[in-house]
Amino acid sequence: MIKIHINVDTPYDIYLGAGILNTLNWTSIFQSYAKRFVVISDTTVSTLYREKLLNLWSEYSPLWLNFEAGEASKTRETKALLEDQLQEAGVNRDACMIAVGGGVVCDLAGFLAATYNRGVPVIYIPTTLLAMVDASVGGKTGVNTSLSKNSIGVFSQPKAIYMDIDFLNTLPDNELQNGLAEILKHSLIRDVKQFERLLKFRKAHSEESWLLSDKMWLLETIAESIRIKKEVVVCDEKETGGLRQILNFGHTIGHAIEQLSGYTVAHGEAVAIGIYLESYLSYCRGYLSWENFSKIEKALKFLKFQLNTPYLSDLNAISNALSVDKKSTAKEWRMVFLKSIGTVCDNYVRAFDKADLEKLLTWYRESL
Ligand code: ADP
Ligand code: ZN
Repeated sequence: MIKIHINVDTPYDIYLGAGILNTLNWTSIFQSYAKRFVVISDTTVSTLYREKLLNLWSEYSPLWLNFEAGEASKTRETKALLEDQLQEAGVNRDACMIAVGGGVVCDLAGFLAATYNRGVPVIYIPTTLLAMVDASVGGKTGVNTSLSKNSIGVFSQPKAIYMDIDFLNTLPDNELQNGLAEILKHSLIRDVKQFERLLKFRKAHSEESWLLSDKMWLLETIAESIRIKKEVVVCDEKETGGLRQILNFGHTIGHAIEQLSGYTVAHGEAVAIGIYLESYLSYCRGYLSWENFSKIEKALKFLKFQLNTPYLSDLNAISNALSVDKKSTAKEWRMVFLKSIGTVCDNYVRAFDKADLEKLLTWYRESL
């Protein structure tokens, strides 16, 4: 089992392994957190894992609460419904929440735990690749509103995170691909070796389910991705110093695509296109070499990311979407630029304007 210590203000550990849920000493883990436990999960994960987990934790007979799977459930309304259910069940401050699910469950349950009775402990058990390498790490919790994503929430750290990659065996391919986009992003901003490792492994494994074909390799890849994110969030826990903005590489254009598609394009798919365009703009501005840009383009295609989208055709619509990006100011749009594979440009974010965008979109339309 791999253990990664996250040394933020209220430190905690991440435990990562294959099949660890069956081998962990739950009695001693549970004893250290609370007397009563409440699982928060979604309908899909519950169908697959509820029975198994309730058997595993039978000694503590946790209450199990679900909400409908999907990003559309990540709302204040779902949180309120869960709060009512908790109160009706008489759950008070001596309880600990256990989030079992993807990023949606971890973000929502984390926020719920942070405010229920002014805060109860929470542990995360992420079940998607995206939640393992990204969403569950970093202390951001929250929900969406109809106007913006993740805009209502708090910074709050879990007591621990238990990641068992055996959950990934039931995860659909497109969800694995979402996680892969963030793994690739982490490597591009901070770790050229991870970038090369990823491609080398992919070259040697042509089978459809290549990501799951070697557990040791996958564990090391997830661990490395977490270490990169950890380095960044530990230095800038509450997003006050600017460093944390580098995690937003590929997300400026990515978020615009998500928004313009009415969130029908998956996050990872949008981020992959964002990586493609933001890397090209990094090249246009003279920061990134053509050779490095080409390597990134080849990698995206080789990793089977779909780079074509109909949502980047209307310049005005994209401009509007960029203006609500949280890195934008009243005067200018901003994004993270790459200097090379594994490093970003100084100052974390730099401005870009309509002329940059026009040039980028003209190239994009012709490039595919
Ligand atoms: P993400 O983790 O990508 O941010 P979600 O929490 O919405 O987003 O999870 C994506 C989808 O995958 C949801 O429909 C969720 O119910 C489903 N899911 C989560 N974990 C698993 C799993 N281990 N096996 C199958 N489906 C899963
Ligand atoms: Zn992301």
